Amino acid sequence: MTRSFIAVALGLLALPTLLATPATAHEAEAWSFAIHGGAGTLSRENMTPEREAEYEAALQGALDAGAAVLRDGGTAMDAVEAAILLMEDDPKFNAGRGAVFTWEGANELDAAVMDGRDRTAGAVTGITAVKNPILLARAVMRDGRHVFLSGAGAEEFAREREIETVAPEWFQTAPRREALERMKADQLSAYDVDHKFGTVGAVALDQAGNLAAGTSTGGMTGKRWGRIGDAPIIGAGTYADNRSCAVSATGAGEYFIRVGVAQEICTRLRLAGDTALEEFDNGQSEGGGEITLTDALVENVADAVMAEVKELGGDGGVIVVAPSGAAVFSFNTSGMYRGRATSKGVNEIAIFAED
Ligand code: ASP
Repeated sequence: MTRSFIAVALGLLALPTLLATPATAHEAEAWSFAIHGGAGTLSRENMTPEREAEYEAALQGALDAGAAVLRDGGTAMDAVEAAILLMEDDPKFNAGRGAVFTWEGANELDAAVMDGRDRTAGAVTGITAVKNPILLARAVMRDGRHVFLSGAGAEEFAREREIETVAPEWFQTAPRREALERMKADQLSAYDVDHKFGTVGAVALDQAGNLAAGTSTGGMTGKRWGRIGDAPIIGAGTYADNRSCAVSATGAGEYFIRVGVAQEICTRLRLAGDTALEEFDNGQSEGGGEITLTDALVENVADAVMAEVKELGGDGGVIVVAPSGAAVFSFNTSGMYRGRATSKGVNEIAIFAED
């Protein structure tokens, strides 16, 4: 009996009909992919059609890059990397080129990746000269001796690994500098000045049934004192575990760290699966102890965890994929740059909550 199964503790009682037809957790050759380019206060009225089209094209490009890897039988981790690389190089997003400015007028980048097969992970923070922090995070993961490197040490490691470096000017863009200046002049908070979180992330399920997650960001405008957000913190902004799900978050990092959002979602899914198996073993249920993690069930758990973020005062969102192929979004803002594609023919991008 396959003991890979998934369920949702909170959803078990509330959504009995969804559990009526248990199935294997992962169908052979099924793949699934989701990306985000940040959540926030986004409304159609405040965006020109040209700007909207630019974002849509950028999201579609990143989605297609990752989906192509998965369609061709590539790994979930390669798909995550392919999509994030494109978004890091795109100045529209707050990651790599186009990152927000710190209080001192620098760009300090964070990134993380995690492989759901064995929960290996790599993360970097305070990066100022590596063109694509996601590549550095992956190199840390591959090296395996450490999980989380910071600042000068991380950059020394990058040089040793011959990972491309750039001058600090590469990351600087006029709109991001203007945001810092406005923040200082009008004594605004990062939330007032940014309106949206432009962090980028991707989560994937490959044909072999493996999950991976990655997130890359410049953090929040005007951050000080070496502030680190949730994105590079394994368990907060990024997490992947083949037994449950892969998650990448965007939003007010402090709250995501406090809730431990990414791991909390995965843990709830995993424990619900354990409960289902236990009940089957005890003869309390039928169906082989296997439960398909439908989109609705994953959404239910992601929404419950995002509600906790909201309760503490935080805004943002997550993307989640599960072994069943479920690819879902959950966010408590008026929009999130997002996209998803699956082997079942789903291929969509969206920006506003009503889309
Ligand atoms: N979560 C990121 C941080 O707090 C910000 C973002 O999502 O844009 O650093």
